[in-house]
Amino acid sequence: MDQASGEVRRVAVVGGGTAGWMAAAALARAFTRPSGLAVEITLVESESIGTVGVGEATIPPIRQFIRMLGLAEDDFIRSTAATAKLGICFKDWGAPGSDYFHGFGDYGPTVAGQAWRQYLFRLKAAGRIEGIEPWSLPAVMARAGRFAPPVDDPRSALSHYSYAFQFDAGLFARRLRTLAEGLGVMRCEGRIVDVVQHPDTGHVAAVRLEDDRQVEADLFIDCSGFRGLLIEQSMKAGYEDWSHWLPCDRAIALPCAAARPAEPFTTARARSAGWQWRIPLQHRVGNGYVYSSAHIDDQAALDDLLGQVESPPLAEPNRLRFVTGRRREVWKGNVVALGLASGFLEPLESTSISLIQNAIGRLLQLFPDRGFDPALIREYNRASALEVERIRDFIVLHYHLAQRADGDLWRQCRETTPPDSLMHKIELFRAQGDVPLLEDESFREDSWTAVFTGLGVWPRRATPLVGVDELDDVERQAARFAELIRQAVASLPAHSEHFTGYAR
Ligand code: FAD
Repeated sequence: MDQASGEVRRVAVVGGGTAGWMAAAALARAFTRPSGLAVEITLVESESIGTVGVGEATIPPIRQFIRMLGLAEDDFIRSTAATAKLGICFKDWGAPGSDYFHGFGDYGPTVAGQAWRQYLFRLKAAGRIEGIEPWSLPAVMARAGRFAPPVDDPRSALSHYSYAFQFDAGLFARRLRTLAEGLGVMRCEGRIVDVVQHPDTGHVAAVRLEDDRQVEADLFIDCSGFRGLLIEQSMKAGYEDWSHWLPCDRAIALPCAAARPAEPFTTARARSAGWQWRIPLQHRVGNGYVYSSAHIDDQAALDDLLGQVESPPLAEPNRLRFVTGRRREVWKGNVVALGLASGFLEPLESTSISLIQNAIGRLLQLFPDRGFDPALIREYNRASALEVERIRDFIVLHYHLAQRADGDLWRQCRETTPPDSLMHKIELFRAQGDVPLLEDESFREDSWTAVFTGLGVWPRRATPLVGVDELDDVERQAARFAELIRQAVASLPAHSEHFTGYAR
């Protein structure tokens, strides 16, 4: 068979962090045939190098990934010490002591063809309500510490939300490894010291390990982390730096024991030079500080974090450095980069694992043969760039609108002109509460609304289409909806009760 048009028979995944094992497991699942794996998959990783060892919070699509792998949620929850996540509580991003909630759900039903949030904007403009959180079921549920999966009946208030998981990333990779190896993926332990490229095409032909073994493949998936061993060091894909919009460039992660029952949400607390996360799992709490090294030194950042954690740390601080941005080409030649090798956006909205998952789906959709049709590569790179740029805008929004008066970081973020694509959203939201969604948006209108209104940005008016009914009637309807939500939430079990059976 002609080499250039033959099928890809061997895939090498370089790296065994979250990205590597997600890719290996998903590819193995996709290429499983009655006779075994249709493609030979080898994963190379080095225990001496290790993984970043963080990445604990997710967004709802993670559940589709778990299903696609054929993993039962019970199994996943047990094996990764997971808790449910209904959204993120943002503290101190607005006025000192203030907070708001980005819940995974909408602000009520569609009424006369218009999203209920538009009626709430009308009430707000008329001074009839303070905020919109009482109409977010996941926010009310999370603050009450209650949880149950949504019901299927679309007429029930308890169908208007979704949920994700908070879990131990190390345990997740371990579970995926068992699954992938069970499907026939081969694991190769060892440090890669050289990358062999084809002299004519520049394609990667093999990676060489320090003991001189070689792993050859037709397609290489670079999951080697920040270093981008293949995509950057060999293929020179280039990097687009976004740190002028997102200046944080360091993080410290520090787990501790839980001092209270696990809540079904992540907390993101703004600090003078960045923000700190708190992610409750079944067996511990993940904490971390994402900060700008231009605005605080490493020791002061650690001291600040230590001052916030609720109990003595369970491990040494894990220090990480990064440059926010994206690889210019995430697929170049026969190398596709996933995870940290493809770029980095800080975990403010817990999006990295979701980006990995979507990239794997895209790769399976556009899976090449050995001809590596440039049209497939162009489409993959185009869609990947759009997706990550939309998330970048969403994250920049938090910084740009934050109202903190302490620290130069916040002034700098307020004064830096946002990307044009974001500016358009901000202007339209201020005008009448619309959020123009572009192609490949990960976050829907209600998510953007949570952040805008949480940071004190309200539309000057609602769309005129919600101006038909008497204001008093709209107010009564709003009160009814809020009451329905309160009652529905009161009927739910405590989150800790739902997860008691899984406690490790
Ligand atoms: P890594 O974990 O770095 O794995 C790289 C792999 O490559 C390792 O197995 C390593 O051994 C191997 N390797 C490298 N070089 C070689 C070599 N020469 N030879 C052999 N093997 C090699 N994501 C979320 O979705 N939610 C979060 O809450 C979240 N929080 C985060 C917080 C911080 C501070 C950071 C930095 C990231 C966070 N992320 C989060 C992102 C998440 O951690 C990563 O997306 C995820 O862990 C994927 O990492 P990775 O597999 O790409 O890289």
